[in-house]
Amino acid sequence: MIKAYAAFEAGGELRAYEYDPGVLASHDVEISVEHCGICHSDLSMINNEWGLSEYPLVPGHEVVGTVNAIGGDVRGLAVGQRVGLGWHSDYCFSCSSCHEEDHNLCGSAQGTIVGRHGGFADKVRADYRSVVALPEGVEPASAGPLFCGGITVFNPLVQYDIQAGAKVAVIGIGGLGHLALQFLRAWGCEVTAFTSSESKQIEALALGAHHTVNSTDKQAVKQAAGSFDLILSTVNVPLSWNNYVEALKPKGRLHFVGATLEPLNISAFGLISAQRSISGSPVGSPATIKQMLTFAAKHDISPRTEYFSFVDINKAIQHVAEGKARYRVVLTHDQSLLIQV
Ligand SMILES: [Zn+2]
Ligand SMILES: [Zn+2]
Repeated sequence: MIKAYAAFEAGGELRAYEYDPGVLASHDVEISVEHCGICHSDLSMINNEWGLSEYPLVPGHEVVGTVNAIGGDVRGLAVGQRVGLGWHSDYCFSCSSCHEEDHNLCGSAQGTIVGRHGGFADKVRADYRSVVALPEGVEPASAGPLFCGGITVFNPLVQYDIQAGAKVAVIGIGGLGHLALQFLRAWGCEVTAFTSSESKQIEALALGAHHTVNSTDKQAVKQAAGSFDLILSTVNVPLSWNNYVEALKPKGRLHFVGATLEPLNISAFGLISAQRSISGSPVGSPATIKQMLTFAAKHDISPRTEYFSFVDINKAIQHVAEGKARYRVVLTHDQSLLIQV
C-alpha cells in the first residue's frame, strides 16, 4: 500500500489516504519520496480550477526521492538512485512531438496528478522515461521545485535560443520568477525584475537581477518602452499587457509561463508595428530537464525553500495559498530540515 495525502472534494483539506498501486508496470519505476515541492498547480488541482480533477486526488509533482523498484523494461535507472519527477509521468512515445523529443508537448502526456496519484505520499510511480536522475552538485532537499517551477522558466531559454547578452525581464518574483532570475543571470542575460513588492525588489537583485522596476508604477513600466528581447510573465493576475508589449524591442517576445484565467487584452497594433510576438509554454521535456539540472549544478542555482513536514501538509498548502512562500515550499520526510514556521 502507498501512504498518501489526498483531497476528497474540490477545495477540501488533505487527509491521510492509502491506496494499492497494484503490480509495478514493466516501464514504471517506483520512487520512495524524500521531498516534494508544492506548486500552484497543486492548489489549482485541489480546487478543480481546470475541471481536470478526480477525487480522491493525491497532489505533488515536484518529487525528489530514490528509486525503490523498477519494472522489467526500465533502462538507465537503478534501485537506490536519486531521481526527480515533475508534471508529467508518462508520454505516448509515438506522436510527432514525442519523436522530436518534445515530449512535454505530447497530446497524450499524462500529468503526474491528473488521473493518477502524485508525490504527496511515501511512494509514487511513473514511466521511467519521465524520471530524471539527479546529477552531482544538485542538492536533493531543494531540488524538487526545479522539476516543475524551474523547468518551466528554463525551457523558453532553450526553445527560443536566447543568447548571452539578451535583455530579458521577468514579471513576478515568486516560485517561478525567483528561479528565472537565477537562470537568466547565469545564462549571461541582462536581467530586469518587474515586481509589485518593495521588499522583493531588493531580493530580486540578490537573486541575479541587474535592475528592478515597480510593476504597479505604470509610468515606470511605460519608461521601459523598447527595452527587452524577451519578457517572461510568471504571474497569474491580469496586468496592463499592452505596456509590456511596448516594453519589447522590435521582434521581441512576451512569453507566458504563468496562466491568467482571464483572456489577454492585447492590442494587435503593438505586435504588428514592431513585429513582436506573444507566446506561452508549459514545462520542458525530460531532455531539457536534464540540461537544466546540469546547468543548475554548474552555476550553483537552487530554489529558495521553506520546509514543512508531511503531517503539516494543510498548513503548508495554506502558506502557499496565502502567497507567503519565500519562495517555494517543500514537504519533507527529513526531520532535520524542519524549522518552526
Ligand atoms: Zn507545477
Ligand atoms: Zn506523444
